[in-house]
Amino acid sequence: MNAAADPACPACGQLGAAALGSVSVPTQHAAYAQRAAQERVGTRADAAGLASDTLAALAQAHPAPLGRYTMHRCPHCALEFADPMLAPPPAWYGTLYEALPLYPAERWEYGQVLRALGPPDTVLDHGCGSGHFLGLAAGRVRRAIGIDFSPAGVAAVQQRGLEAHVATGGAAEGVALSEPASHITAFHVLEHLPRPAALFELARALGTPAVQLWVAVPSDRRPDRLCGESDDLDAPPHHLTRWTPRALQALGERQGWQLRSLHHEPLPWRQCVWEVGRRNRAVAALLAASPWPRPLRRGLARLAALGLWAWGRHPMDQASGFSMLARYTLNR
Ligand SMILES: [Zn+2]
Repeated sequence: MNAAADPACPACGQLGAAALGSVSVPTQHAAYAQRAAQERVGTRADAAGLASDTLAALAQAHPAPLGRYTMHRCPHCALEFADPMLAPPPAWYGTLYEALPLYPAERWEYGQVLRALGPPDTVLDHGCGSGHFLGLAAGRVRRAIGIDFSPAGVAAVQQRGLEAHVATGGAAEGVALSEPASHITAFHVLEHLPRPAALFELARALGTPAVQLWVAVPSDRRPDRLCGESDDLDAPPHHLTRWTPRALQALGERQGWQLRSLHHEPLPWRQCVWEVGRRNRAVAALLAASPWPRPLRRGLARLAALGLWAWGRHPMDQASGFSMLARYTLNR
């Protein structure tokens, strides 16, 4: 797939996106391998050996012929998207998720969706991962079904006694349900898809006419985004898109869905204090004041961060937690 001169926005379909800069695939792979090695610090595993193994496996699974992606921002819906919209194959994800624990057992959005589920419902979880949400939903609804691109992941979910199927291709290919779903969930799936519209096509094909579609993506108000900091996992090849509320609404509308609600995960005040403190030079200097004992440094740094937070001169008053959650219904 070649990069286009003026790529259309995958959310709203309009042209005129501005190039933000390029992302080197080898550099990204090195950053992911470095993270994998850091995960092993303090364990008996050979961190350096693991990093080079991870690096080689990622490069082999996704050689990325162009070697780089160019990021663009749509002037209409503010979606940031990669060009080309080229996702790595399942083997690449298998390597990455084996090296990095990226499937959390709990997410804020799980609770938001679970509250809307009842005994008559059939739930389809697209991108069920290791089945954390599916396990929670199964206790509340008549039937809970997971689909995922990873055959190993689906096998693990099935071993837990849950129903799961392997999805192939971009979306619903190979998956047929014996009954339509009343709720379809996709937690942190959309940002990985080479064609985001495929998620909405899948939901239309596999849902009832009254289906509720829940889509969680990384929040546009996460502290690192508010501060303009880069996050290698929130960039290609891992994430091909970075969403905004406007982009979520625009994509839904083009596919015949109405955005009914959109909520940002709250940021607990203690974490907000930490986010303020760790970006402040004075707090960093306190932490590095080497002649002082470590507990004293940490205590003073916490106090300083709390003071900064209470003073309110920081960009964190708009900050959210990790996710934002959209709920859609079909237009009649
Ligand atoms: Zn757009």
